[in-house]
Amino acid sequence: MKSLIKAILVGLALSIGAGIAGADDRFQLLFSGRAKLLDLTYPINKGNAYWPGSAYFPFTLKNIANIDKDGVYSNSFSMPEHLGTHMDAPSHFVKGQLSLDQIPLTQLFGPAVVVDVRQKVDKNPDYQMSIQDLKGWEQAHGLIPDGAIILMYTGWGERWSDFNSYRNRDAQGNLHFPGYSPEVAQFLIKEKSIYGIGIDTLSVDYGLSKDFKVHHICHGAGKYHLENVANLDKMPANGAYLILAPIKIEGGSGGPTRIYAVLP
Ligand SMILES: [Zn+2]
Repeated sequence: MKSLIKAILVGLALSIGAGIAGADDRFQLLFSGRAKLLDLTYPINKGNAYWPGSAYFPFTLKNIANIDKDGVYSNSFSMPEHLGTHMDAPSHFVKGQLSLDQIPLTQLFGPAVVVDVRQKVDKNPDYQMSIQDLKGWEQAHGLIPDGAIILMYTGWGERWSDFNSYRNRDAQGNLHFPGYSPEVAQFLIKEKSIYGIGIDTLSVDYGLSKDFKVHHICHGAGKYHLENVANLDKMPANGAYLILAPIKIEGGSGGPTRIYAVLP
């Protein structure tokens, strides 16, 4: 019995050591410029998708100085916070929660858990992720690690270049694109220790949602969202680390965010 306990303890120590060494090696590669990196951010321009609410508007860039005339090149820009690849701060839907600038830096780094639901979305654009989808990921890759950032891979990125197809509005004005189910949001908040969730569509709630339950559940628990995440087709399901760099708008409800993946 004693030797069994000893063996378990040694095994545990080895696996914890290996985990830390693995991450450490990857940072060595990062600092030496040899890490494999992937940018999960769309370039910001006037064609970027934004939340189709009445007061929202496209990105605009205005030249305010140019080298020929002024000896210097400089622009000003204007955009809604929720445009292009961006983060939703917990204050977006829940009063008293953290604004964008208040999200702790420690929560902006974490292992990526990429859940591929493309087959279900192909059959149903209104698909909402099920707990079974998460369990399927765990069966293939092990338990969702603490501090994970979940990314729902729907394949919607293929529509990015066409805003109409991306928001997919029907004749009645309803939007049709996939999202998380409220059950999955509850499960992740209650059963797991995650930092945030992300998706390659306009919203973590599916297009038909009128009550934005997933937003309320996650933000109520202090979790952030990443929306319009790019390049999920190039991400491994497991083993990548994410580095998130949201713009630091004081009191912001969200804002443009550079998302880097350090690949295994
Ligand atoms: Zn948003």
